[in-house]
Amino acid sequence: MIQGPLVDAFGRVHTNLRLSVTDRCNIRCFYCMPTEQVQFRPRHEILSFEEITRFVRVAARLGIRKIRITGGEPLVRSQLPALVRLLRQIPGIDELALTTNGVLLAEQAAALRQAGLDRLNISLDTLDPEKFQRLTRRDLLDRVLKGIFAARTAGFQAIKLNAIAVRNMTEDEIVPLARFARQHDLELRFIEYMPLDGDRTWHSDQVLQGAEILRRLEQAFGPLEPIERTDASQPATDYRFASGQGRIGLITPVSQPFCEQCNRLRLTAEGQIRNCLFSTDEWDARALLRANAPDEDLARLIRACVAGKHAARGGDSSEFVRPDRAMFQIGG
Ligand code: SAM
Ligand code: SF4
Repeated sequence: MIQGPLVDAFGRVHTNLRLSVTDRCNIRCFYCMPTEQVQFRPRHEILSFEEITRFVRVAARLGIRKIRITGGEPLVRSQLPALVRLLRQIPGIDELALTTNGVLLAEQAAALRQAGLDRLNISLDTLDPEKFQRLTRRDLLDRVLKGIFAARTAGFQAIKLNAIAVRNMTEDEIVPLARFARQHDLELRFIEYMPLDGDRTWHSDQVLQGAEILRRLEQAFGPLEPIERTDASQPATDYRFASGQGRIGLITPVSQPFCEQCNRLRLTAEGQIRNCLFSTDEWDARALLRANAPDEDLARLIRACVAGKHAARGGDSSEFVRPDRAMFQIGG
C-alpha cells in the first residue's frame, strides 16, 4: 500500500475521521431533521461493524489517529460497545470519542467506557424542559441529564457539552447552560447554526454568532480570557473565566470558518467518504468493501477523496453550494 500521510493540495494533513454509524435518531432536532417524513436508509445499506473496522484499519495505516463516532444518534445503533472494542484494537488509533444526544447514555455509559471509549461530547441545548421539547420535538430532557451524570459515574473525564446557537431561540439558554457547566465541571461549547437542517429553511439571520455569545457570557460572569490552542486543528476557540473555574468553547463555522486548519474526513453510515461537511462529492467505500476489493484500492479511494478537498467550502465561501444531505445524514 502506498504509505505516507493523507495530505491534500493545500498541505493539510488528515488525521481525524468522523464515523457515522447510523442516520437514525430517537429525537428530532429542528436544526437537523425534517419536520415530517424522515427518510432513513434501509438497514442493508448501512455498513456492518466488520466493514467499518476494515475501513478504519486501512485509514489508520494512512495516518488517521482520532476517531469520533457519530450519527444520527450513535447510541441507537445496536451493540455499539462491540464496535468500540473492535476500533480500540486497531493499531494507530490514539483516541476514540463519541458525540451523542445523551438520551440513551445512562444505560450505555459504563459499557462504552469498559469497551475503551476515551471521550464523550453530549449535546444539550437547554435546561428548560419546554424549550427542549420545542427544539427536539421530544420530551426527554430528564433522560439527557441522567445520561450526563451517568457518564461521569462511569469514569469519563473532561466531558464536553455541545449547545447549538440559533438567533431568536437560544439566547436565553446561554447563561443557564454556562452556569450548569461550571457547577458540574463540564466544558461547554456553542456551535453556530449551519445550513444543514433537514427542512432547508436555514437563513443567515438565524445564526447567533460567537461574538454575541461571548458578550452575553461576559455580561453575566465577567471577562473571558482566550486560551492558546494546543491543537491547531481544533474547531473551537476556547476561553476561561477570569473569575475562576470553567471553560467555554465557541465553534464558529459560519462567522469564522476554520477550513484552513481542517484535518477531518467523514464516513457516512452507508459508507461514503466525504472530505467536508459541505462537500457535494462523495467517494464510495461501500462498493469496494462489498466487492472485497484489496486494501490498496480502499487506500487509493481515501487518497482521492483527500486530494479532491477544496480550500474552503463554508457558508460564506464563494464555492458554497448547499449539500443535498442534512446533518443527520452526514454525521455531525
Ligand atoms: N445525535 C448526536 C448528537 O446530537 O449529539 C450526534 C450527531 S449530531 C448531528 C452532532 C452535532 O451536530 C450535535 O451537537 C448537533 O447539535 C449538531 N448539529 C446538528 N445540526 C446542526 C446544524 N444545522 N448546525 C450546527 N450544528 C448542528
Ligand atoms: Fe438527532 Fe443529533 Fe440530529 Fe438532534 S442533532 S436530530 S440528536 S442526530
